[in-house]
Amino acid sequence: MSLTGSSIPRVRFAPSPTGYLHVGGARTALFNWLYARRMGGVFVLRIEDTDMERSSTDMVTGILDGLSWLGLDWDEGPGVGGPHAPYFQSERLELYRAAAAELVTAGRAYYDFGGPSKRGDAAAEEDGTYERRYDRDACLAVPADTVARRVAAGEPYAIRFLVPPGETVFADLVHGDVRFDNAHIEDFVVLRSDGYPTYHLSVVVDDIAMAMTHVVRGDDHISNTPKQVLLYQAFGKPVPHFAHVPLIMGADKKRLSKRHGATSVMEYERQGYVPEAMVNFLALLGWSPGQDLELLTKDELVSHFTLDGISTGNAVFNTEKLDWFNHQYLLKRSDDDLLALLTPWFERAGLWQADLANGRRSWFVEVLTLLRPRAKRLGEFVDGARPFLAAPDSYDPDGAAQHLSAPDIGAHLTALRDTFATLEPFSEGPLEQTLRAVAEQRGLKAGVLIHATRLAMTGRTVSPGLFEMLRLLGRDQVVARLDRVIQTR
Ligand code: GLU
Repeated sequence: MSLTGSSIPRVRFAPSPTGYLHVGGARTALFNWLYARRMGGVFVLRIEDTDMERSSTDMVTGILDGLSWLGLDWDEGPGVGGPHAPYFQSERLELYRAAAAELVTAGRAYYDFGGPSKRGDAAAEEDGTYERRYDRDACLAVPADTVARRVAAGEPYAIRFLVPPGETVFADLVHGDVRFDNAHIEDFVVLRSDGYPTYHLSVVVDDIAMAMTHVVRGDDHISNTPKQVLLYQAFGKPVPHFAHVPLIMGADKKRLSKRHGATSVMEYERQGYVPEAMVNFLALLGWSPGQDLELLTKDELVSHFTLDGISTGNAVFNTEKLDWFNHQYLLKRSDDDLLALLTPWFERAGLWQADLANGRRSWFVEVLTLLRPRAKRLGEFVDGARPFLAAPDSYDPDGAAQHLSAPDIGAHLTALRDTFATLEPFSEGPLEQTLRAVAEQRGLKAGVLIHATRLAMTGRTVSPGLFEMLRLLGRDQVVARLDRVIQTR
């Protein structure tokens, strides 16, 4: 059966709030969002919180925050409402109960009063140890009036779907025709003995009620799809288009998990990634715009996005690639943006000074500009700018042993200090010429003074270009830091 009616695509992201927004979920949300925006469709956010024990409002907030950080706005869902509200499954339980009853009435499902442990079914199904712990024939043999009496007497029951014989086929937009022999599908529970629906029932009831045209989700749901297709058929409703997107793997080709590093999207914010880099990176995990295109703004992603471009092979999460994207987008940020983005980072590091935003703003922007060509994450700006904002409190021991231990290095640095003290103008060219001249007068290689001066200024053996740095530090700081190293060595 094909879809009829509205030609406007309606897609959804339907997270279960049992954890924060993880990378895989974010990628699923992004694909749905891109498809909706590309097609002028509607992107729905639905919270699948029927597992009350594992769901929490903190997790819901975490998911909404993650989506907002990525800039994935939803047209219907929490906070914005919509014509199919409520968008929390925990507020739609009556619908699922009614749907289960409708299936029983239609002869497509039956009451099972058997064992009390129906809740174990889902877990057992997931780890593949499912056994037929039900007896279809015995359940179906119970006369309707007996069923009604036992239900009225408050006996616990589950409702199971009566899987018909035959084959279930669905056309997946990524994988092509996918076939399942119904003989391998057990009479799965749709309503559990505690009155809560199973995922299969609630997802189908809602996808019907919310008029979804496309279901775009992870490959891990392929094995769930035949059950859901059977439910659509039992309800006499058209089956939406399915597109199952490849799973995300770590570098070792194993499914991405905490072992590989951060999996929560907001953790990437804390690690200093910018959302536009994350979006670009995630979009290319399992999708390709073709033509070797890589660096694409969100608008460009929207204009290129097609479900055809989704690959069947698994995607690999490559942190170096993410760093590359982040670096590219950090280069693109305007000075104002970068400064605003970095202010809380400098505050947290205890390095923020109010005049960096006004009196010394253009100086600070110059410092950041010096650091930009190498910065992959926001934290690297803090680290790189530290010596500009505070004198070193120690010197790298190996660097000091190598560059500050020669017997007359103190005298050499004093000579340099005295020249710098009166140098005019205190700018890159003259600073470099002066340093080289002092080295020559004293029979030294320029490198000796360069290394020692870098250590004196930063405490480190690496820094951005030394002479640009000296200019930005200014005469007073340069002289003071040379004095200090001369005294303390
Ligand atoms: N709540 C399900 C999940 O988080 C949704 C699956 C689906 O998109 O159908 O995996």
